[in-house]
Order: sequence, then C-alpha cells, then structure tokens
Amino acid sequence: MKRTVLIFLAVFALSVLAQQQNNKTQILISGGTLIDGTGSTRRIADVRIVGDTIKEIGKLKPQPGERVIDAKGLIVAPGFVDVHNHSERGFANDPTARTQTLQGITTIAVGPDGGSPFPIADYLTWSEKQRLATNVIAFVGHATVRQKVMGKDFKRTATEAEISKMAELVEQAMREGAVGLSSGLEYDIGNPATTEEVIALSKVAARYGGIYMSHVRDEADLAFDAFREAIRIGREANLPVQISHIKLGTVGVWNKAAEVVKLIEAARRQGLDITADCYPYDAWGSTITVLIPSRRHDDPVAVKKGLDDVGGGVNVLITSCSAHRDYEGKTLDEIAKANGKTAVDVYIQIVKDGGAGVVCKSMIEPDIKTFYQQRWVMVSSDGGIGTRHPRGAGTFPRVLGRYVREQKWLSLEEAIRKMSSLPAWRLGLKDRGSIKVGMKADVVVFDANQIIDRSTMTQPGIEPVGIQYVLVNGGMVVAEGKVTGERFGTVLRQASTVKGK
Ligand SMILES: [Zn+2]
Repeated sequence: MKRTVLIFLAVFALSVLAQQQNNKTQILISGGTLIDGTGSTRRIADVRIVGDTIKEIGKLKPQPGERVIDAKGLIVAPGFVDVHNHSERGFANDPTARTQTLQGITTIAVGPDGGSPFPIADYLTWSEKQRLATNVIAFVGHATVRQKVMGKDFKRTATEAEISKMAELVEQAMREGAVGLSSGLEYDIGNPATTEEVIALSKVAARYGGIYMSHVRDEADLAFDAFREAIRIGREANLPVQISHIKLGTVGVWNKAAEVVKLIEAARRQGLDITADCYPYDAWGSTITVLIPSRRHDDPVAVKKGLDDVGGGVNVLITSCSAHRDYEGKTLDEIAKANGKTAVDVYIQIVKDGGAGVVCKSMIEPDIKTFYQQRWVMVSSDGGIGTRHPRGAGTFPRVLGRYVREQKWLSLEEAIRKMSSLPAWRLGLKDRGSIKVGMKADVVVFDANQIIDRSTMTQPGIEPVGIQYVLVNGGMVVAEGKVTGERFGTVLRQASTVKGK
C-alpha cells in the first residue's frame, strides 16, 4: 500500500517536472497563411505544436491549456536555415543570437570560408552547454586544418605527407559530426593550396556523406576559372558542392551571371550536385587592402587598377579608420575631393597609416537577381552575430521585403523555399526546413506586408521589422516581435556513418 503511494507520488512528481521543463508544451498557431517551405502555394491552415514537434495541420480548435498564437493576416513558414554564417564566436557574447532570431533564422551553419572551430566535438559540446537560441551545425575548415598541419609555413603547396595529416584531421571532424568541408581559397591560408589538395580532403568528407562548400578562389576577373575549379573538385571527389555567396565582384565580370548559370547548369546536367547561396547586397565588407590583390599598396598604377575594377573610389566607403576618424562614413572619392587629392592618393595614405575597414559596392543588382532566380540558389547571410555589414542583421527580411514584395523578383513561396527546405536539404537535415506533421517545430510567423531590413552600411546592427514569432524546437525565442531571451536550440550532428562504396 505504502509502496503504491510512493510510486504514485514519484510518477506525479515526474510528470510535473516534465511539464515544467516543457513550458513549450503545446502551441496552436491559429488562422495564419501557411507557406510550408516546399514551394507549394500558400493556404490558410492552423498548426499545432506539441513539445518540439509539429503534430497537426488543418482546421484546428484550441484545446484546454494550449497557448494560442493568433496568426490571422500573417505568414506561417519554416524557420530559416542559414548555410553560411559567422556566428561561431558571436554566440559567446550573445547566446540569444538576437540579430539572427529577429531575422527568422532558426538553424545556423558555422565554419564557412575555410575557417572553423577545431576540434568540432569540443565546439559542439560547448554549444550544447551554452544552450543557444538557434540550432547549430558545423563545417570543418580547410584553412583551419591546413594551418594546424603547416603552422606559419603555409605560403606554399603542401607535401603529400602534410596533405595526409590534414586528411586525418578532416576525418576526425567528420566523425565528430561536421556536415562537410569548407574552404576559402581566396584567403591567405587557403590560397596556396592546389586543387589536388582540396580534392584529397573533399574525398574524406565524401566518404562520410559530407559536402564541399567553397568560397571560391576568385570572385573578380577570374571568377569563371574559380567556379570551374569548384565544379572539378565536386566531380573528382564525387560529392555535392555548394558555392558560397556567389558573386561577380569586378567591372570586368559584371552582367555575366547568366553565363555563370550556364556553366553550373551544364555541370548539373552531367549529374553533378552543384548548388549555391547568395546574399542580397551589392556591397561586400572587408579590410581595405583586399582591393589590391597584387598587394602593391603603394604603387599608384596597381592601386588605380584595383579601384577601377570596383567602379572607382566612389564605390569604396570607409567604415572604420583609427588613424583618420573623420574619414569614417565617407567614400574614397569624397575624401579625395575634400582634400584636393585623388582617390589613389587617399588609398595609399590610409594603408600607410594603418589601414581601414571598408564596404565596397562592387556587385550589381541584375547579377544578384539572375542568381536568385535559379532554383538551386538559396539565401544565406554570410553574416552572424556582431557582423559589421548590414547582412549580419538584415539578410532574410531584406530578401522578403525588397526583392519579393517590392521588386517581385520571386514569389514569396519560392523565396521561403530558398530559406528553408532548400538549405535544410543541402545540409542533410531531414526533419527541418518545412512545415509538415512530424517535422521539428522550427517556425517563423511574420507580416509579409511589413517585413523589411533596417540595417545599413554605417549602422549594421539595426534589427529588421516584421517578424512576429520565432519558434525553435517548439520553444519561443521571439514573441510579439521581441526576443524572449529563452534558448531552445540544439546541436545538429551529421550522422558519421561511412558511405558504402
Ligand atoms: Zn566567404
């Protein structure tokens, strides 16, 4: 008798505990317009979430004790999956990922451009302990493993023995749950690598079912060669390729997006799995010296060529310059004019005085439009927590507000597919990226008539408007347009089973 009571009490206590832990228990999103992420046409439907899972979709009546979100007049969509995000360090400063969740991002892939945390296992364990607001998945970086093996002596081709050591590190990362290999072949550490080196490492990722994600070797005059190299890596290592933030960044290749599309579609027709992502800005942000790839920063001829390639000093905005605070917020041309100099003079002087952060408007909208209109191009931010470029806080609302609502480049259904099911599929996430019964409850509720980015080149952290609710694994991280401060993200690991082949 006593024992029965005790058992009863224990069961009761457990169920109370379970309910308390699960304050996300049951939510009904009522009366919204559902865009399910697959590209299907919108329809009015209620969505019931129990725990972390989507349980029912249809015409549903509220149940006792259920939290009801009134979504009348709002769009209900899958949470956005960002395949290219630099938040890996930013999470430590802001585990609520404010600038990310307010854009509707629910899953973040870290470790792009060849730079990743290492070991991946340690990072994922740390993320788990932190309890982040979004889900996290990680790439292993080519430059990261390259530097681990070569140390400071990386400005050369690697030996066979060094490549084998890098391969071991990639293998370790893949076993620990990395989703694939990323590279940044335009950057200092990645650039000296031969294509063969990248192929060798990609083969390791391929064995574990991973993908190869590439910031290609050149996004300027030699972009076509760089895209061809990425395709070759996919063919020879036999794995899917994701071209990161696809762009054409110099005057010499402007208006050639259709030719890039032809090149990639030809590869796709041959059975290669090539996809890309694109951010919705015609300006990149970096340090001023990347404008002169030859690195002859005091040579007026080289500097003039570099500035001409991006359309002139009118397109180069100084965002930070510790030696010349008065230059901040001005273009090279404006500074030149005010001082009776040329933009070339100003460039040489700034670099001599310690450099500067710049935002450079070197892409054109017609190319971005052509890329976005391809079925295999998804939306990514290349931003993250604390990014000093407006993409860090504005990417997803910008696409929905400017390019869908205002300029009608895409239907809302197609844009959402590019933000949800397409990137989720690319990352191998089978239970995220669309709103269907049984899927994890990563959901965004927003006002399609209001949504817009507000971050600018000079004020990159301003949050967008229009996102009303964001749910991650059924828990509310944004409610009534505000960050709740709660964190429901989980760590996603690629199943590390070796592909039989
Ligand atoms: Zn990049």
